[in-house]
Amino acid sequence: MSEERCAPMRLLIQADVDGELDAGQAAALAAHIEDCRSCAMKRADLFELSSRLRAEIPYHAAPASLRQAVEARIAASVQAAAPASERAVSRWFGALGALGARLRQGISFGAGFALAAGLALAFMLPRGSELAGDVIADHIRALQPGHLTDVVSTDQHTVKPWFNGRLDYSPPVKDLAADGFPLVGGRLDYLNGRPVAALAYRHAQHVIDLYVWPSESRADRTPSQGERNGYNYVHWADGGMNFWAVSDLNAAELRTFVDLWHSMRPRKI
Ligand SMILES: [Zn+2]
Repeated sequence: MSEERCAPMRLLIQADVDGELDAGQAAALAAHIEDCRSCAMKRADLFELSSRLRAEIPYHAAPASLRQAVEARIAASVQAAAPASERAVSRWFGALGALGARLRQGISFGAGFALAAGLALAFMLPRGSELAGDVIADHIRALQPGHLTDVVSTDQHTVKPWFNGRLDYSPPVKDLAADGFPLVGGRLDYLNGRPVAALAYRHAQHVIDLYVWPSESRADRTPSQGERNGYNYVHWADGGMNFWAVSDLNAAELRTFVDLWHSMRPRKI
């Protein structure tokens, strides 16, 4: 068989071993291999090498810092695609695929494959409430410069009316400055399939985001607390509204914020 015809086949063989052939390419390669002993042997050798690499190269779990960096990237792209959750999911997988490809280039492909597969598995494990993940992802995105507030004001009488005409409900806005949690502003975000109000508060160096949107059920829910990737969150429902408070503040101080919010009635505006 001529070098002219075999050269392109070698690329297809490599792709075949990586499981990346489409149907047309697979047919072309199969037809070539039937007549070309050299390419058939090359393909068999590569498959054998690949399975040996997978079996013999030690598996290394990805470090937590890599996982966090990837999650943050994914969170950012999910937020960018927020209105279309399907698109968000496909980007999510795209990010994983791109990571796998990059790993494969840097590391021998057997080890890269194991690492990428391990990462994919880690991401596919149940992660508890998806909404908690979405809320934290949004909070992280908002911490980037210029993203925290659409309306900058420490005055609840400015922040609350700002949402008029931007949302189909009026979120309660409270200022907790006297208790050490000053309001710094508000913004519109997209969570749980709908536009929501996000209120930003500060406590020392920490930012607290409080997300508010109408709850489907009118039932109140007592606060439940959780932690993910170093961020604490408290979720509750009250007066027909869902509330999610998120911050890198420690759990006790975040809970103080929530208790203060609870105990203070919104003033009539
Ligand atoms: Zn050939």
